[in-house]
Amino acid sequence: MAVPDDTPMITPHGSVGVTVLGATGSIGTSTLDVIARHPDTYRVIALTANRQVELLVEQCLRFAPEFAVCVDERAAQQSSDWLKQAGSQTQVLSGVEGLERVASLPQVDQVMAAIVGAAGLYPALAAVRAGKRVLLANKEALVMSGQIFIDEVRRHNVELLPIDSEHNAIFQSMPVNFGEGLASVGVRRILLTASGGPFRHATADELARVTPAQACAHPNWSMGRKISVDSASMMNKGLELIEACWLFDTVPDSVQVVIHPQSVIHSLVEYVDGSVLAQLGNPDMRTPIAHAMAWPQRMDSGVDSLNLFDIARLDFAEPDMQRFPCLRLAYEVMRTGGTAPAILNAANEVAVQAFLDERLAFTAIPVVIEKTLEQVDCNEADVLDVIIADDQLSRVVAERLVAEGVR
Ligand code: NAD
Ligand code: MG
Repeated sequence: MAVPDDTPMITPHGSVGVTVLGATGSIGTSTLDVIARHPDTYRVIALTANRQVELLVEQCLRFAPEFAVCVDERAAQQSSDWLKQAGSQTQVLSGVEGLERVASLPQVDQVMAAIVGAAGLYPALAAVRAGKRVLLANKEALVMSGQIFIDEVRRHNVELLPIDSEHNAIFQSMPVNFGEGLASVGVRRILLTASGGPFRHATADELARVTPAQACAHPNWSMGRKISVDSASMMNKGLELIEACWLFDTVPDSVQVVIHPQSVIHSLVEYVDGSVLAQLGNPDMRTPIAHAMAWPQRMDSGVDSLNLFDIARLDFAEPDMQRFPCLRLAYEVMRTGGTAPAILNAANEVAVQAFLDERLAFTAIPVVIEKTLEQVDCNEADVLDVIIADDQLSRVVAERLVAEGVR
């Protein structure tokens, strides 16, 4: 675990209670790094993982949360045994119910939603319904059920702060009253930057032979495996386009994706008078994490100053939707609406896992998604059960396409 060298080993004991969902992941560990720098402000109430027992136990011994959750029952038992042996007071829960419980405890003020994929939806919704400040990294939750999620945010008057670096940059570049509607506050469009991933210059032939190790080696960001593959296929930018539409109440045609290989400008907002505001910084997720946790104040995140002399130049290009069809598919499903984005998301999760397991070629990822979209009927997305049913059906269809050897 990344424990900053310059931080004394004291358990955070401040007044702001935090639950970190997905604590053992890339965003989760960066969140704990930020919390460890501010032990007088924050207190860790709960940490959760799927089944990474060793790291979760290590984090519990370091941060002394009241609760830990392992979704996996056996992993929960193992964690509980190890923690007891070490003399820890942390109580271990299991299952999705455990995740929902620690997202809604009364002593929790902020919930970092950093579980990867559709699995993050219910715990993130539980945090919203309990009125917590939600620090949203789990973009798949919004992609699947954006309307329901945003309606619940409004109903419970929740502070929803984006952690995704682009959306955090957009949030920082928006006027404070952007919730009144982008047109009425003078915003013309959003410019969503993308690094272009590790295969920005690859030919179609080279893309067909890409390996999981190559796809997971992102040039600028260190991330979990799923989002790394999404970045390489540009589906990450597609999911982010959908995420931006929900967070900022806009339409796909008002969001322009801009390839910016240096990942220094994290996104921009253009106003009707021609002004363009942007947020810049080193590519390190501790900046958006610290911003969202401290908002509307600011606090140190441990991120180095941006050295513009070292960077020297910033480049921009239009995205290539021919070589990266995932981005085109994301624009299409968002225009279609209903459960189409949930179908795309589910098919993508299956295809990415199959690619990581070396059961599917990299270039077949968009093929699986497009065929799943053809085979699964899209429904209205105003009832969660309907969305979940379409998600499940899409997974079955996508798995069958993978098994049939679709190319
Ligand atoms: P990761 O794979 O590193 O970590 C995922 C975390 O979720 C782990 O703690 C894991 O134990 C937990 N998890 C996995 N499956 C689970 C399940 N079925 N039930 C409960 N918990 C489960 O992922 P990450 O890179 O930290 O990304 C997390 C989320 O943040 C994703 O939605 C991703 O798109 C988003 N995000 C990540 C970054 C980044 O830089 N890593 C940037 C922007 C957005
Ligand atoms: Mg991002």
